[in-house]
Amino acid sequence: MKKQIEQLSAYEPGLSPRALKEQYGIEGELYKLASNENLYGPTPKVNEAIKAHLDELQFYPETGSPLLKEAISKYLNVDASRILFGAGLDEVILMISRAVLTAGDKIVTSEMTFGQYYHNAIVESAKVTQVPLQEGYFDLEGILSEIDEDTKLVWLCNPNNPTGTYFSHDELQRFLERVPSDIPVIIDEAYVEFVTADDFPDTLALQKQFANAFLLRTFSKAYGLAGMRIGYVVAAKEAIEKYNIIRPPFNVGRLSEYAALAALEDQAYLTSIRDRNAQERAKFFELSQSDAFYPSQTNFIYVKTNKPHDLYEALLSVGCITREFPKGVRITIGFPEQNEKMIEVLKNFNF
Ligand SMILES: *Cc1c(COP(=O)(O)O)cnc(C)c1O
Repeated sequence: MKKQIEQLSAYEPGLSPRALKEQYGIEGELYKLASNENLYGPTPKVNEAIKAHLDELQFYPETGSPLLKEAISKYLNVDASRILFGAGLDEVILMISRAVLTAGDKIVTSEMTFGQYYHNAIVESAKVTQVPLQEGYFDLEGILSEIDEDTKLVWLCNPNNPTGTYFSHDELQRFLERVPSDIPVIIDEAYVEFVTADDFPDTLALQKQFANAFLLRTFSKAYGLAGMRIGYVVAAKEAIEKYNIIRPPFNVGRLSEYAALAALEDQAYLTSIRDRNAQERAKFFELSQSDAFYPSQTNFIYVKTNKPHDLYEALLSVGCITREFPKGVRITIGFPEQNEKMIEVLKNFNF
């Protein structure tokens, strides 16, 4: 067994609604607002697409998800040779780490960001430098100053999970101008569809200038397909060819490909999800208590508190399961009814 695996632990999903009800003696409905899922679910077109292919379950999927690749290629206006799919971004992150990293290599990322960059680097015997956040924001200067000759990957998350904060197009451009062009900068945009800020990066445009800027997107969040496991990377063709060698041949399921195709086609539905989320998000930021929140461009809000467990329990008592962190609680924005309840809790909470 690889020794370094002992430093890691398996993913902890938190207690299920059933277990929580038992432990806290809660009556009534509990809502899972801990994983930033889209509670509205995917467009109903996904349901039809899945039904139309239910008699093909005995067949392997087409390797590489060619139909979806063609559709994304058109949608993003990038060559299909620059796209690769994974069983969720989780698998994309795993494949990139596996393809690139060996013992002695280093990755640079931020602290308080998506944990899989760290996790996979450790599995591949690499070292990890985590640059502290600055007031909840990525410290791009700090990350630059940690890049050295051992650095093989730089991971950025924009907007960031769990803080919900983002960096702008100009900030990313200035950053990319200063990173050596042979070091891939992987930009995870899992929440991009929720963004409403005008100065958010056009990463695809920056890729024309910076071939080492790699982009990650997923169908798990705004598209509402977390259960189908499908995400992708847009990168330089040469990198995609290498990642593809280590990709498990049938990594993305047949139904997942059709589901994602249907979801991608219904952009009107996606827009309605973005608008509803933005409307609900604004309600939280109208509170005078919102000083305790990091600004959010996503479908979640990070609430800073020295009593995260008290806040977690207070939210649970109104039926909302959130995610506790050492110095805060991350709340996925829910349906209006749940948001009202959570807002009442936040109004009365002593941070
Ligand atoms: C949820 C999430 C992912 C993983 O998404 P999947 O495509 O479901 O594996 C990746 N990155 C970030 C920042 C996320 O929040």
